[in-house]
Amino acid sequence: MSDPVPPRAEIVVDLAAVRHNVRVLKDVVAGAAPVQLMVVVKADGYGHGMVEVAAAARAAGADWLGVATIDEALALRAAGDRGPLLCWLSAPGDDFAAAVAADVEVTAYSEEELEEIAAVGGARVQLKVDTGLSRGGAPRRLWHDLFAVASDLEREGRITVTGIWSHLAASDEPDHPANDAQEEAFRDALALAASAGLEPGVRHLANSAAAVLRPSARFDLVRCGIAAYGLDPAPGASPPLGLRPAMTVRARLVMSKEIAAGDGVSYGHTWRADEDTTVGLVPAGYGEGVPRAAGNTAEAWVDGVRRPIRGRVCMDQLVVDLGGELPPPGTEVVLFGPGDLGEPTAQDWAEAVDTINYEIVTRIGGRLSRRHVDSDVTPGGHAR
Ligand SMILES: *Cc1c(COP(=O)(O)O)cnc(C)c1O
Repeated sequence: MSDPVPPRAEIVVDLAAVRHNVRVLKDVVAGAAPVQLMVVVKADGYGHGMVEVAAAARAAGADWLGVATIDEALALRAAGDRGPLLCWLSAPGDDFAAAVAADVEVTAYSEEELEEIAAVGGARVQLKVDTGLSRGGAPRRLWHDLFAVASDLEREGRITVTGIWSHLAASDEPDHPANDAQEEAFRDALALAASAGLEPGVRHLANSAAAVLRPSARFDLVRCGIAAYGLDPAPGASPPLGLRPAMTVRARLVMSKEIAAGDGVSYGHTWRADEDTTVGLVPAGYGEGVPRAAGNTAEAWVDGVRRPIRGRVCMDQLVVDLGGELPPPGTEVVLFGPGDLGEPTAQDWAEAVDTINYEIVTRIGGRLSRRHVDSDVTPGGHAR
């Protein structure tokens, strides 16, 4: 079989890794009480491809899918997804009627939003309470009124309240006092909701980090994003779970050449060779979502060896130090991947540029092509 011309630079996503991670998460949360697993696929599946990841997650047993926007939820329905699906970040003018018609559960943060949703008729609504993140959701002083209105609307048959939920501020720091405080506040909210006559089917608080680190926060359901993609939800605090990073970003070297001691590399000459060396040109830059801050800090893997990025990352390209070697054009470069071959991981890149692994995978894209492989079917397919 003749290989097609390999792409200049691409994202490869291993759906077998996603399925593996979803099964790991299901095992982690399966305790004495049944806990449902929602896999969060917002923001194009954290850069991995929403529709493909969603199908893999369902295949591996995800009970729910979660997204931020109604548009994301409708795109999943258009792609054929039929299972329980929640969205949670509406903006004025959003089409609740389309969501309800597509059997998407929506989230209300306020009385006004609840009235707007109820006007559609027949909506399945979850209520979000702010327990201390001070982001979305009803603030504590409005919980009573929100629950009273929701209860009235439900009695009138205009909505069904299917869930009550909240979101943690510091779940990746298990000893942070906000965790206890928010969990206690959430229990208060649930008690208040019960006294208003609400009987939500799912009560949920935990994201990936809390699902893994805080059994008391699991309630009826956990909402896992980052861990489903195989990235560590709480670097330094997570127990070993055997998650497998699903994303590899790879490219083909465009050229390699010799430079002399004292030569400056890339814009501004922020790096100069202190001895004669060789450098290689990689056709990916901040136009592909490679962080510009990776200049002089991150590494890329070139033909089996980790090589430092030298000088500034440009819009379309970056330069690596090849340490005197001159690999030919077309040589494989991996910016980050699962780490199995010694290549850097998204976590390594996050540390190099002082961000979180979420941002590394979610922002990568631009002109990169993306393909999905299944290493259960084609072993090693992602590293070809
Ligand atoms: C994105 C998101 C999640 C997933 O968080 P992870 O840390 O990726 O597991 C869960 N819940 C809400 C409300 C979110 O916005």
